[in-house]
Amino acid sequence: MIPAGFDYHAPRSVADAVKLLGSLGPDAKLLAGGHSLLPMMKLRFAQPSALIDLGKIPDLRGITQSGGEIRIGAMTTEHELLNSKLLADKVPLLVEGVSQIADPQVRYKGTIGGDICHGDPANDHPALALALDASFVLAGPKGERVVKAEGFFVGVYATLGVFLINAAREPLANRSLIWFTIWSSIVHGGIMLVQALVDETDRINLLGDVPALFLVAFVLWYLMSGKARA
Ligand SMILES: Cc1cc2nc3c(=O)[nH]c(=O)nc-3n(C[C@H](O)[C@H](O)[C@H](O)COP(=O)(O)OP(=O)(O)OC[C@H]3O[C@@H](n4cnc5c(N)ncnc54)[C@H](O)[C@@H]3O)c2cc1C
Repeated sequence: MIPAGFDYHAPRSVADAVKLLGSLGPDAKLLAGGHSLLPMMKLRFAQPSALIDLGKIPDLRGITQSGGEIRIGAMTTEHELLNSKLLADKVPLLVEGVSQIADPQVRYKGTIGGDICHGDPANDHPALALALDASFVLAGPKGERVVKAEGFFVGVYATLGVFLINAAREPLANRSLIWFTIWSSIVHGGIMLVQALVDETDRINLLGDVPALFLVAFVLWYLMSGKARA
């Protein structure tokens, strides 16, 4: 349970962090709240040669409204999201989703950027971002670019290449979303929570560990319940 050795860097700006990412190469990793990365390092599933700690970059924190969008810095913690009056007012679904994440200890350190970039299909933010039609601002050596959530997740634990997420942008159009929760103790032999969000386009966005059987059952039930629009 002791990680392999690594160098530690704590840049003070996004530009410096991006420079470090470029110069240290693909073996370096960005560190946010550490709740997913550090356990993987302790088990030696991840052995980065260097950690670039984003915790001392003030520009990566905060929730602001700009025109028709809410911009959330990647290092904003789940606790800050949960207690944001602006989000409660403008994007209440995000706050409701965050309230389901882990416990207060995890929410004090875990960040929206880390949750999204980890690419864990069981994490909540990827499905919330898809349901809310969010975009991500990616910072790299060639500057910034904006990518829609649906083009960002390319597989299990796989996102779009090496970059630094600068911010998530949530459009203000308040989508009508329905939460579904299914409890199951059959497939994995333990209690499992499957949650699904259905948005106004009738797209189904699943959260949690979803075996195919439940996915099929859920889609059939949804179609037969008459909730889907013709
Ligand atoms: C007990 C426990 C329960 C949990 N329950 C839930 C839950 O119910 N729902 C849920 O969604 N999550 C859950 N999590 C995961 C938690 O939300 C993590 O905090 C999250 O997955 C990672 O966020 P982090 O800030 O800790 O990132 P880190 O662990 O520091 O980083 C995770 C990965 O993202 C990369 N990364 C981090 N920030 C950036 C960035 N800005 N740009 C590019 N790459 C970046 C890192 O290099 C690393 O690969 C749980 C974790 C624990 C320990």
